[in-house]
Amino acid sequence: MDQDFETLYKKASELTGVKELNKSVSYAHVGCALMTDQGNIYTGICIDAPCGIGFCAEHAAIAEMLKNNESKIAKIIAVGKTGILPPCGRCRELIKLVNSDNMKTQVMIAKDTIVTLEELLPNAWIA
Ligand SMILES: [Zn+2]
Repeated sequence: MDQDFETLYKKASELTGVKELNKSVSYAHVGCALMTDQGNIYTGICIDAPCGIGFCAEHAAIAEMLKNNESKIAKIIAVGKTGILPPCGRCRELIKLVNSDNMKTQVMIAKDTIVTLEELLPNAWIA
């Protein structure tokens, strides 16, 4: 595995492990780690709550990145109990929306499978 993705995989995996907060909310089913074009790493966990109130691990990692005034993602990975997960459609859009250069972002979607966001999001919503 690519050395950077090895590091990101490890960081995302370390965050993963379902935790029950109460009868309605659990979190950390999925962990995400991303590396910016500056080489900084940001992480996030998902929150699962009823009625779409929760959010994906990628959203949390992107918020952490934006908090640090960065928006260009070089590499990103999400890991759950079953292993590496491709980003959902909403996350694909968010990655694109925070910086259109992110169409070149490398996304690990399975062990030894890296694709660009452009491949995952052809004909993006907003240019
Ligand atoms: Zn998502």
